[in-house]
Amino acid sequence: MSPSHIERRDVTDESHTFEWYRDGVERPLWRLFSAFGTDRLGYFGVGLFTGLFERLASLVPPFVLGVAIDAVFTQQTAYQLPFVPEAWIPSARIDQLWFSFALIFGCFALTAVLSTVRMLTTDYYSHHLMYVVRTNTYDKLQRLDMAFFDNQQKGELMSILNNDISNFEQFFDDALTRAVRIVTVLVGITAFLVYLNWQLAVITLLAVPLLTLFTLWFMRRVEPVYDAIRGSVGAMNTRLENNLGGIDLIKTMATEPYESERVADVSYRYFETNWDRIKLATVYHPGSSLVTNASFAVTFLVGGYWVVVGPPPLLSGTLTVGALVTFLFMSQRFTGPLKQIAVFIEQYENARASGKRVVGLQEMPVGVDDPPDARDLTAPDGRVAYDDVTFGYDAGDDPVLTGIDFEVDPGETVALVGPTGAGKSTVLQLLMRMYDVDDGRVALDGHDVRTLSLSSLRDAIGYVSQENYLFGGTIRENITYGTFAVAEDEAVVEAAKAAEAHGFITDLRHGYETEVGEQGVKLSGGQRQRIAIARVILTDPEVLVFDEATSDVDTETEMLIQRSLDRITADRTTFLIAHRLSTVKGADTILVLENGEIVERGDHEELLQADGLYANLWKVQAGEVDDLPEAFVDRVARSD
Ligand code: ADP
Repeated sequence: MSPSHIERRDVTDESHTFEWYRDGVERPLWRLFSAFGTDRLGYFGVGLFTGLFERLASLVPPFVLGVAIDAVFTQQTAYQLPFVPEAWIPSARIDQLWFSFALIFGCFALTAVLSTVRMLTTDYYSHHLMYVVRTNTYDKLQRLDMAFFDNQQKGELMSILNNDISNFEQFFDDALTRAVRIVTVLVGITAFLVYLNWQLAVITLLAVPLLTLFTLWFMRRVEPVYDAIRGSVGAMNTRLENNLGGIDLIKTMATEPYESERVADVSYRYFETNWDRIKLATVYHPGSSLVTNASFAVTFLVGGYWVVVGPPPLLSGTLTVGALVTFLFMSQRFTGPLKQIAVFIEQYENARASGKRVVGLQEMPVGVDDPPDARDLTAPDGRVAYDDVTFGYDAGDDPVLTGIDFEVDPGETVALVGPTGAGKSTVLQLLMRMYDVDDGRVALDGHDVRTLSLSSLRDAIGYVSQENYLFGGTIRENITYGTFAVAEDEAVVEAAKAAEAHGFITDLRHGYETEVGEQGVKLSGGQRQRIAIARVILTDPEVLVFDEATSDVDTETEMLIQRSLDRITADRTTFLIAHRLSTVKGADTILVLENGEIVERGDHEELLQADGLYANLWKVQAGEVDDLPEAFVDRVARSD
């Protein structure tokens, strides 16, 4: 399936792209195996091989037992074993007993050793495979566009990275080796049974076609059920992830009963889909057991009749007790694996449903990616140009930005102001190529950003937004995130001072080594913003983007940060989005956006004189609300 399918699909249905893509995945397990499973295949090979011998070794004891009964106990036949030279076989009965014991015990011991080797090798292989698939899937995931994450629930992605990839591992670890053992045993025992008594073997093997038909029936029915189960696990994880993330909202709004019901709904869906599986399994498992057990019982009856009365109708020859015992033991070994086919089928269906989800994610096309001949931006000047840019988040909807056209010289500071939802943040997201323009172009140093390597483009831009995420770790680690070990202690402190963060950091008991994030000290929004500003200062980018970067700090601190920033931004191209117009007053150019268009541009004085939207916004913030024109008040009242 090619990515072009995605582009052609119904654009109004964008949020289902991922599911849509996943549903088209064919032979997912084979695709995962051929992409990732060939590394260290030797382990798997050794595992399968030892598994095969383990099973074969386990077939020897019942065979020896049968021979011992006939030769040692009832003395009906001579002591003979295939592949064993006659010279090795003792002649005295008691010695034959010891010989039989040694063979039986030796085979059990060999089975134990082979079993250890098999477990070590197949477990190593499958767990290593899980590790490779998980890290590769994660790498792919973080390359996907922001648009993908806008539409995708984190819980769903977590369930793919966690549960689905683990299911896949289980399949390779347990199910495949099980399958190989089943095949070995079936082929080995069939050969043995035919060798022992082909006529009785035909009767025992009558179960096989019956069981095959029954299994095909089950597979057809259980396949969609497993898809539904995997889907309901994803939905449940999404709900839980949402609720835990919003637990403070749930508590403050006292919506616990409502949320309990929503969690109950998704849990119930999981229960229901599982119940569908169980209902099918409760027919299939006992049903297949009945078929195989019936085959055993019929073999017992026919064989017993043969021993007691003589050959039943249509059959001929003789059957000794020992041969019958061996045969029954062997056919028991035969029915065991036949029943295990059912377990294998379930494991296979489960892994296939999970595999589809993993492959679906792996094969999602990446929209915003490095072009094939990506140019690396070296020592950028910071000249930025927007050339008649049009952009919409969802193709098919009205564009969010139209005709955005401006140029910024290196070192200039440009402010974007305007009502919420006007498109200010979106303009700057396009500069960093978090999304690609629909029309027009955005250029840095004269190069269309789509021709540059993403890493060099984003390295050139330092971005601080309103929401600043801190990783679990120390404050120092959070400030040096991106520069990592390169940053000197002194530089870290300098950056923190410039961001007005040094003061509050040194007030903390462990200073820069204080643990923050989910398991550490909780910092206020303003403190997090200042850490983010320090982080960006340390990366020393050519272009700075501050998107409401000081919205959560008090006005005094903002004034202090502003003073340091003036120094830092003096020779860098800087974009500022701020609601407090006092922050942007000193910008070289102010772009006023409304409904996705630039409606005014100029410096503070020019815009005040123009007496348009900016002048009105300024009056609002200066508290001069009585002077506002009716039309402006009307527009504000109508906007969202
Ligand atoms: P501003 O920064 O001026 O407040 P934004 O650029 O954030 O405005 O948003 C402009 C418009 O785009 C708004 O209508 C908003 O709802 C929409 N929008 C913003 N982000 C997304 C997104 N990730 N997906 C879809 N629509 C978005």
